[in-house]
Amino acid sequence: MQTETSLLQKRFPIMISACLLGIICRYDGREATCSDLVDYVSSVSFIPFCPEQLGGLSTPRPPAKIIGGDGRDVISGKARLLNAVGDDVTDAFRKGAEEALNLARLSGASLAIMKDRSPSCGLKTPFCDKSTGLGIGVTAGLFESNGIKIFGLGKDDPFPCRNFLQLFEEFYSKSAR
Ligand code: SF4
Repeated sequence: MQTETSLLQKRFPIMISACLLGIICRYDGREATCSDLVDYVSSVSFIPFCPEQLGGLSTPRPPAKIIGGDGRDVISGKARLLNAVGDDVTDAFRKGAEEALNLARLSGASLAIMKDRSPSCGLKTPFCDKSTGLGIGVTAGLFESNGIKIFGLGKDDPFPCRNFLQLFEEFYSKSAR
């Protein structure tokens, strides 16, 4: 019998960085599977997405870094992204973020599980230009400013952890009212 929580999980889809599910979409073509997350998604409705591929970038691709700020600054037009061979890939990162937001809106997803450290998906990425050394990624910044709650996850992190379950319960109990 399904619990109330699992019914809610089926009803409200979750956006998930595709690389965490074993899709080969990372810049270096290597996998970044979070095996606990793979087990978890059998019980939920989810949308795998890779904003960099949605923006038209290939896999593998040169790594990129935000210059002049972080993801929020890219969205506002103050910062750019340069890749390791000197190409400006700002437009691809912005397009991918917008397409990912479109997917979230189409599916009604308001919660996302996103790969840590990425200049696209990371809630805290070192691949940016902030005095603190860490800033938000481009898609994570766009999601956050559009009211999508983000839970950051690394390749080998255990999942679901207490923090995620708390966030999930709080978020979806409000949504279900
Ligand atoms: S972190 Fe995000 S942009 Fe990077 S490979 Fe994974 S899904 Fe794609």
